[in-house]
This record gives sequence, structure tokens and C-alpha cells, in this order.
Amino acid sequence: MRTNKNATAILFGKGDIPDPLDVLKTVYGYPAFRGKQEAVVRRVIAGGDAVVLFPTGAGKSLCYQIPALCRDGVGIVVSPLIALMRDQVEALTQLGVRAAALNSSLSREDFIQLRSDLARGELDLLYVTPERIAAPGFRDLIGATKIALFAIDEAHCVSQWGHDFRPEYRALGKLAELFPGVPRMALTATADPHTQEDIIDGLALTDAEVFTTSFDRPNIAYEIVERDQPRQQLLRFLSRHEGESGIVYCLSRAKVEDTAEWLNRQGIRALAYHAGMERETRDAHQDAFLKEENLCLVATVAFGMGIDKPNVRYVAHLDLPGSVEAYYQETGRAGRDGLPSEAWMAYGMADVIQRGRMIDEAGSPPEVKRIERAKLNALLAICETPGCRRQAILAHFGEAHPGGCGHCDTCLKPVETWDGTEAAIKALAAIYRTGERFGAGHLIDVLTGNATERVKSFGHVDMPVFGAGKELATRTWQSVYRQLLAAGLITIDHAAYGAFKLGEGARAVFKREREVRFRLDRPTKGKAVRVASAAAQARKDGLADEDRALFEALRSLRLTIAKDLSVAPYVIFHDTTLIAFATERPMHESDMLAISGVGRSKMERYGEAFLDVIREHS
Ligand code: ADP
Ligand code: ZN
Repeated sequence: MRTNKNATAILFGKGDIPDPLDVLKTVYGYPAFRGKQEAVVRRVIAGGDAVVLFPTGAGKSLCYQIPALCRDGVGIVVSPLIALMRDQVEALTQLGVRAAALNSSLSREDFIQLRSDLARGELDLLYVTPERIAAPGFRDLIGATKIALFAIDEAHCVSQWGHDFRPEYRALGKLAELFPGVPRMALTATADPHTQEDIIDGLALTDAEVFTTSFDRPNIAYEIVERDQPRQQLLRFLSRHEGESGIVYCLSRAKVEDTAEWLNRQGIRALAYHAGMERETRDAHQDAFLKEENLCLVATVAFGMGIDKPNVRYVAHLDLPGSVEAYYQETGRAGRDGLPSEAWMAYGMADVIQRGRMIDEAGSPPEVKRIERAKLNALLAICETPGCRRQAILAHFGEAHPGGCGHCDTCLKPVETWDGTEAAIKALAAIYRTGERFGAGHLIDVLTGNATERVKSFGHVDMPVFGAGKELATRTWQSVYRQLLAAGLITIDHAAYGAFKLGEGARAVFKREREVRFRLDRPTKGKAVRVASAAAQARKDGLADEDRALFEALRSLRLTIAKDLSVAPYVIFHDTTLIAFATERPMHESDMLAISGVGRSKMERYGEAFLDVIREHS
């Protein structure tokens, strides 16, 4: 059997197994492991299997890259997305690591090169799609090449429970038999117990040690607002992110296109992305998002899995996702680099109705529908909570958090609550008296005494509930109905066109055995105002004016280099590294190497150019 002479052997001399901490420092330029990274790395280097359940941005990639560099042989990484592979291979190449990707976009020539590199033991990491690894040709391709490990990324794709199920992942369970003795790891940011079980069973990882960490993303600030004038609200939100990149999620393709077009008319550079677009355009838009610094990508959920752009500064939702899991996964694409980022959502009753209808019309078996409705309600409860959003989200994933996180909207501006027992009784009575056949619009007309043709035609003007809720505004009643839904006191009958029905617990409210408190919705603000962006920027990354000028100069150098090489700017250096350059102002190679994110290879490639800019500014 041939052995590999890997990059670390070149860096540290042959023979010894390199120390993972040395690899971290020399190759990546990072001073220390984070959280449980080191424990994972050491276990795999020693030949053990591992299941790694860390949230997005925690640093899962290093968990398999470093063992692959330390162990003899090539590390094989199974990844479902070609775009992600390309990205990772580029980033690794910049680090001086020998990486390649095996997928359908590979040319014949590149394939021949790859095969020969593999045979000669000249690859440290090989990214492979699940289809490829399951195909019979894979075994032949590997031939006598030694394998350091298998890393199965996005491992939740093996589970039918989630929304990213990929049947090809099932074949990966056979790797244990096909390649005995090779350590295997599964990595994902989805941690619910059900998915976890499926990963262990489906990928034959019963002997693996399971590593989990907190799912909190402390650098993401959460805000959920009641939808009122969605476009103005979005614009106001985006004004806090001038010059930054982010994602705006919409439910439908048409809305994606309309919103992107409208944003461009407002002077915000935006591109659309959805599955119905021509492949070429879609890929070009994704590429622009990865490479440009100031771009708003308006997308359906088709965009996102595996996007590892570290400096996505915001994720905005114009429509309600289907579950807390989906919401957390989508918002989790913000702030991988650990810098302050925002997750913002505008939602309203219409979303709840629409999502509910989607569940109903999907044609799934009743038990699946029931689960999906429960998932939707869990998200609704988070939207309507008067408490800390972070606490509510983490509680959903079974994690305790004391609350009062200080950077979600409800913590920053505590929500007042009011005793809504009386209002709840009226709202429920309106449903009951009208026969559980109407939705919010009609019920509110009845409560506020609005004698529309429809209200008259059903004879509801003659009922005692007609006008019984005049003391509250229409908007307040909308809020009341949303909160009753979130509390499960009413349910929606989609078969009856979204009619409200009384839920469990409604009876207790009628009998005044159960007190109801509602959150007091905030009055919506006026027209969009552009926040003075420099001030907003300074607050966010903590840069002083004189450092900011240098930071901008460094950013522009980075962009020039990135364009030349046709790679994403963050592949050169992350924002966090540039910020450290601007504030610490290294003057010599040794100072620069001490900064997090500057490894040996990057120092050699770009160190001088950046040092020059720093010297010019000092
Ligand atoms: P995940 O795959 O878990 O979402 P990544 O592997 O993409 O996360 O890592 C997120 C970011 O954190 C990357 O930019 C990575 O370079 C950085 N990172 C990971 N580990 C460390 C570390 N020990 N020190 C500094 N930065 C790290
Ligand atoms: Zn909070």
C-alpha cells in the first residue's frame, strides 16, 4: 500500500505525526482551538469515529481538515453541494493545502489529473458528492491510495425527518464495510434528537463519540416585527446594512423577482435566486454573492445550504418559514465569522394561513400534517413571545438559556403585556357564535361592528357579539387572534378556507379558569429613514475613524487580489483578520503572523502587499 506524503509532512518534516495545534497555527494561523474542536480532532487522529453536532459558524470544517492533514493518506469529504466544494477547495488551496473536488462539473483533463494526484498520494483532501462515492467506479479510483478519514458533511441529509433529505446519503452507511478501519465522522448543524438518531443508524456510527455544543449564536441579533408595510419595513432594516451583504428570503419565486427589482430601483444592489431560474443565471448570481461585498441576494429557500460565506451580515425574512428548524437554519447563515449580524423577520396572519394551506395541500399522510402543523405553531409561539427570543428558540432545541440575552428585540425593548382575558373571551365568542366558519377578517368586522355586506348577509349584525369589541382597534384584534393561535387556543380549519375553530383550552378561558395575557404590539414607525451609515458601522465593528480608513484600504486591496484570482475576498483574509490589521497595525512579518487568520502560506502570498498598505497609513 502506498502512503501519502501530505502537506503537513512537507511543513513539519517526514516521520512524526504532526501536532494538531501546530497545524492550526501554521496552516490556518489561528492561535487556539474553539470549544470542542480539539477533542474531536484528537479522537479522529487516534482513529475513532465521531458525530459532530455544532451550530453553523462553530468551525466544523477544521474538525475534519486537521485530522486529514495529521493522518497519513487523503481525507475524503462527502458534501452534497458542488458550489460549496469549489469554495472549500479554493480556500484550502490558499492555505497551501492540496485539495480537489470530484463531481459532475469536473472536466476530463481535470479528472485525469486528479486520478494521478490520488495515485501518487499527492492530495490532502478530496471532496466528493454522495452520488460519486456510491458509484462503483469510486472504489477503483481510490485503488491502493490510503484514506485518512471519511467526513460526511451536512449529515442530516440522511434523515427523512428534516427538509433536506437526500436518498444518496443512505448508501454512505456502507462505507464502514467497504473501507474497514478508516475513521468516519458525520457533521451537521441540525441537532434535534430524531435527526441525530437517524444519522447514527443510517451512517452506521454506533461506535462514534457524539460531540455537541450550545446552539446559541451569540453574535446574531434577532428581531421579529409585525408586517405592516413590508417593503418600507425592509428598506428601513436594510438601511442599517449599507455596504454589507445579506440574504432576503421570500416564499415565492414571483415575490423574489419583484422584491429584487424593487430594491434595485431603491438604489440597493440586489440579485434574485430561485430554483425556477436558468441555471447559468442562478449560478452567476450565487457567484456574485460570494465574491462581492455589497450585495443583497433575494432568494427562496432553494438558496443557502452549504453557503459558507463568512460575512453575511443579515438574513431577512419577508415570509414566515415553516418551522423553527428552518428559521434557525436560514438565519444561521448570517455571521459565520462571529462578527455582529442580524436576523430580521416581518410576519403577519396571512403567513400563518398560507403556511397552513401549504401543509394541507401537500398531500402528505395525516400524521405528517399533524407534525408540520405543530412545527409551524412552535415558530408562531416564538414570533409572539413577550420573552427573550433567544431563550425561546434555544428552549425549542432543548437547551436552557437564562434569557435576557440583551440583543434580541424583546430584550432590547421589553414588550409590555396586558390582561387580555376579556378580549380573549370576546374573540373566542365571536368564533363560537358564528359557527366556527369564519377567518380573522370577518370575525374582526363582527367584533368592531363593521356592517359589511358579508356580515349582513349572514345575519351577524343581529348577534350580541356584533360590535362587542369596539373598544379595540382592528390591528389589536389581529394581534389578539395571532396570539390566540400561537397559544393553541384556536386552530385553523384549512379545509374550510381558513376558518378559525376553538382549540383545547378555549373552554377554560370562557369559564375564566385561565387568565390570558397578550403582548402589546409596538406602534409601527413612520416612513423609512436612512440611518447615518458611518455611525452605524462604527457601532457595529467597534472601529475608530482612523482605523476605519485603513480597514477600507485593506478591504480594497483584498478585493483587487480576489478579482485577479477570481476567488471570493474572504478566501484571501476574513473581515476579522482585516479588522485586526487595522487596529493592531503589524509592521513586520512576525507581528503579522501573530494575528489570527494569518498562516504561513497566506503570509508568503499576501503578507507584503498588506504590510505595505498598513505602513503607508501609519
Ligand atoms: P461551520 O462549518 O461549523 O459552519 P466553519 O468551519 O465554516 O463553520 O467555520 C466558521 C468560521 O470560523 C470559519 O471562518 C473558520 O475559519 C473559523 N474558525 C474555525 N475554527 C476556528 C478557530 N479555532 N479559531 C479561529 N477561527 C476559527
Ligand atoms: Zn433576548
